[in-house]
Amino acid sequence: MFNKILVANRGEIALRVIRAAREMGIASVAVHSTADSDAMHVRMADESVCVGPPSSAQSYLSIPSIIAACEITGAEAIHPGYGFLSENAAFVQVIEDHGLTFIGPTAEHIRVMGDKITAKETMRKLGVPCVPGSDGGVANLADARALGEEMGYPVIIKATAGGGGKGMKVAQTAADMERAFQTARAEGQSNFGNDEVYIEKYLTTPRHIEIQVFGDGKGRAVHLGERDCSLQRRHQKVFEEAPGPAITAEERARIGKVCADAMADINYIGAGTIEFLYEDGEFYFIEMNTRLQVEHPVTEAIFGVDLVREQIRVASGMDMSFVQEDLHINGHAIEVRINAEKLPNFSPCPGRITQYHAPGGLGVRMDSALYDGYSIPPYYDSLIGKLIVHGRDRPEALARLNRALGELIVDGVDTTIPLFDALLQEKDIHTGEYNIHWLEHWLENLSADA
Ligand code: ADP
Repeated sequence: MFNKILVANRGEIALRVIRAAREMGIASVAVHSTADSDAMHVRMADESVCVGPPSSAQSYLSIPSIIAACEITGAEAIHPGYGFLSENAAFVQVIEDHGLTFIGPTAEHIRVMGDKITAKETMRKLGVPCVPGSDGGVANLADARALGEEMGYPVIIKATAGGGGKGMKVAQTAADMERAFQTARAEGQSNFGNDEVYIEKYLTTPRHIEIQVFGDGKGRAVHLGERDCSLQRRHQKVFEEAPGPAITAEERARIGKVCADAMADINYIGAGTIEFLYEDGEFYFIEMNTRLQVEHPVTEAIFGVDLVREQIRVASGMDMSFVQEDLHINGHAIEVRINAEKLPNFSPCPGRITQYHAPGGLGVRMDSALYDGYSIPPYYDSLIGKLIVHGRDRPEALARLNRALGELIVDGVDTTIPLFDALLQEKDIHTGEYNIHWLEHWLENLSADA
């Protein structure tokens, strides 16, 4: 096992990793930008190294600075969290070249899954069901039009390098195709430096269901059920739950096994998430994330496992601490993302926290790097906390969410807390009847009423 690891991230996810390391008796090194000198992850780690100025490009994304921080402190392995360098294959290569260990999958798996076209091809060959669409990239508008006719509208044009909801455009009819095709290409080019796009059938009322997988890199892999992340705004998740209210035990066992077998086949190591759209009882693969997800705690809650601990274990060469037969679902868990954003436009709202009080009690987990008097810097993501609740069943989890939201105080900045208070008044949230468009429609109606 490692003696010391470096956490190449900030905010709540850096704390999450530091906490797991401490429980394992492993020393932790935080890295930070000059804007984050008084951040909680710096205070909680055993050591810290300043790696650059506020801009992430020069700090949290600076591979030479992070490697240097490892060498200065004698850290043996790097946990990337999510975002930043977590899905950067070149980073993994540099880490290995320096005789260090990346706590995550191989550079090759990151590369294959990071390109959505090769990811889909790979998954199809492994027997994972995919969304119908183009065979690989679509080179020009004429081909895109021909495909649109053949598949039938609506279709979605996606940048192969896309992520975070960027580089995706829907063409509802043939008349939309030119604009959608050109915009998806332009967004792919400007955000990811790659203008290759592909086309998929646009599913009209699916749910977003993702399967948590975990492999040991030696041909053994398990699944930890699904998360339903259908409540999204601009393709970004805001509310996640496990198990999925629409998924039966049989469906879970079936798709879970397909995913676990695929991961065993490729000797996948560490945590991964295989994302699907789910409509009329069918699963359609859309992409794989080769890292820990923001919403991993709902899975931890219902399975009673520490996914970060497992990541560190397998990266050090140990076996996973469980096999498939050990994994049983206990109850229901929900996560809501607390962002420093001003409603109704969700505009970022950095600033000084004048008061912070985290909720507590049975079945409540608050993952946040906030503290009284902390100033949220304007340079990074607006996620400032995740409230996770766990109950014996879905109604109990919802009641607990309501209770915990009532206890949570974040003063000084605007947050998304009122959004969740309002959502809990909605019948559809209580019956679990929602799909990937529900939240957008609901928000549109709100602003129309206002
Ligand atoms: P990103 O990598 O940007 O997160 P994904 O491919 O994971 O993009 O898709 C994000 C979201 O976009 C999905 O959760 C879903 O809401 C929507 N989406 C993606 N593909 C389709 C599709 N073929 N039909 C309908 N919606 C889609």
